[in-house]
Amino acid sequence: MKDIQIAIIGAGIGGMTAAVTLAQKGFKINVFEQAPELSEVGAGLTVTPNATKGLIYLGLGEAMNKIGMAHDLQGVRHYQTKEIIVPLKRGKHMLEKYGAYQFQVHRADIHDLLIENLEQHSPGCVSVDHQLVGIDQKSDRVKLIFNNQAEYECDFVIGADGTRSAVRTAILGNDEPEFSGYVAWRGVVPTDGLDESDFDECGSSAFISPGRVFARYLIRDAKEYNYVAFLATDEWAEEGWSIPSKVETVLETFSDYNQQVKNIISATPPEGCYKWGIFTRQPIAKWSSERVTLLGDAAHPLEPFMGQGASMAIEDGVVLGRIVEDSSSFSEIIERYEAARIERSHFVTEHSKKAGQRFTGNNPDAYTKEDHKNEEELGLFYYDPGNVIV
Ligand SMILES: Cc1cc2nc3c(=O)[nH]c(=O)nc-3n(C[C@H](O)[C@H](O)[C@H](O)COP(=O)(O)OP(=O)(O)OC[C@H]3O[C@@H](n4cnc5c(N)ncnc54)[C@H](O)[C@@H]3O)c2cc1C
Repeated sequence: MKDIQIAIIGAGIGGMTAAVTLAQKGFKINVFEQAPELSEVGAGLTVTPNATKGLIYLGLGEAMNKIGMAHDLQGVRHYQTKEIIVPLKRGKHMLEKYGAYQFQVHRADIHDLLIENLEQHSPGCVSVDHQLVGIDQKSDRVKLIFNNQAEYECDFVIGADGTRSAVRTAILGNDEPEFSGYVAWRGVVPTDGLDESDFDECGSSAFISPGRVFARYLIRDAKEYNYVAFLATDEWAEEGWSIPSKVETVLETFSDYNQQVKNIISATPPEGCYKWGIFTRQPIAKWSSERVTLLGDAAHPLEPFMGQGASMAIEDGVVLGRIVEDSSSFSEIIERYEAARIERSHFVTEHSKKAGQRFTGNNPDAYTKEDHKNEEELGLFYYDPGNVIV
């Protein structure tokens, strides 16, 4: 199996993690990405200890210390009074209890880190401007067909092409993504124009109110605030990560929030305010055909209320790479990978949804520590993708 040719569709966080894991293990890989370049896109991401352990396994722990921020305190807070309803110890506490930090990091920085490492182990293996449009599954090879007329044959395919995965459609049929009932705005705000009162001991906070959540955290050595502002709504929003929106719309939607939140929103660069409609899919019991499988959002798009989207994609990538390394057939890879990942991903999907309902449905005055059953309380941080038995 060491000589098999593997194609990865999608150079997002999940696809790049799988690529790095396999390249480090000496596999021949090719990554195909639809975007014209691997550029600086996105905003902040949370990498929880379960995923950090995967990055440590890949030798990227030191680099994460440099690009990520490990805030000491995270809190669920009242939207008007700013009172911390549920304080959550992070920082060193994570390292001591789970063996790795929780980081908050710009998506582009972790993406760059993965690209750089991949380039060291498998130079030139990423082809941009290649949008997959079809898959021809033969008994002994898989043919990939791209929108630029290019074709490529290989032995095994990993579909890491996000929520609207073309690989998923090709192998499992088109179960259309469903609108989750939330839209979100995100912004990255330079902190140099903000007041002292716009900062406090809580480096990462989710301010909750009926129907809305405003989550903000500092990234890039506190030079920027990243925020995501969620609104529960029946109105559909176009899906995509880079749909421009207006700062005034966010400000209006959160007009009854505390002044700190409003100051942060007001400081959003006008060209840097984006919205996205959050789409999910029903969890499924099978992610693969004979020689093709899925990971990350292509396999299990999540509602982002436990900050596990990137972390679960990192877990998938590391675990799949380990399984490919010591399997002796494609059916063994598929069987072991699905056994290792599907149940966990269903659990996280279900609880991410519940977390959103708790945050946006509750009267914040009635929200208690007991209501809070999120990523740490559910035990997600104990998982170690580099060492879990698979
Ligand atoms: C541009 C962008 C910005 C994002 N910004 C944020 C953010 O600010 N905060 C946050 O929490 N999450 C963000 N996310 C989502 C987050 O990265 C993912 O939810 C999570 O990391 C899971 O990653 P993934 O690799 O499974 O999917 P994704 O990160 O969605 O990556 C999928 C990749 O596949 C490519 N692709 C899709 N279809 C095809 C095709 N047919 N052929 C070839 N390539 C294809 C996409 O261009 C993309 O690069 C963003 C995702 C994208 C794509």
